Amino acid sequence: MVKLDLPLVKANTTPRKAFDLMRTKNRSGIVIDLGGGAHVVARAHVIASAIKQKAANVGGIPDLEEIVHWTPGSKAEIHIDEIAPTNVTLKVTRDILPLFEQGPALCLCDKNGHPGGVEGEPCPRGCGGTVICIKSY
Ligand SMILES: [Zn+2]
Repeated sequence: MVKLDLPLVKANTTPRKAFDLMRTKNRSGIVIDLGGGAHVVARAHVIASAIKQKAANVGGIPDLEEIVHWTPGSKAEIHIDEIAPTNVTLKVTRDILPLFEQGPALCLCDKNGHPGGVEGEPCPRGCGGTVICIKSY
């Protein structure tokens, strides 16, 4: 197990703001605090899709099957700093670390978040995804 820090956002955060935060913090995921003890780890391509679909906030992202839900005993353990709850430390297995350990590209595939490519074209890694790009940076 290795440690991974991800930014923590509230459910009413806009997808654009969440994406900006990922880029600032150099991470390709965020932890969404849904309240009531439920936290969700969302990857960059999920947030990018939400921007494209004009979702109002990260708590209302429709394609939940793309999101890794964190629950006690799952392969990600979670610790939230209650004093300054802006970051979450996760203990994760090495195989999922590369999914999160760098900031999101402005163009990435909508299936697995692979970076690069051209808007609307197939994923450059050939995974079957389609490239989506976040503009106006
Ligand atoms: Zn891909």
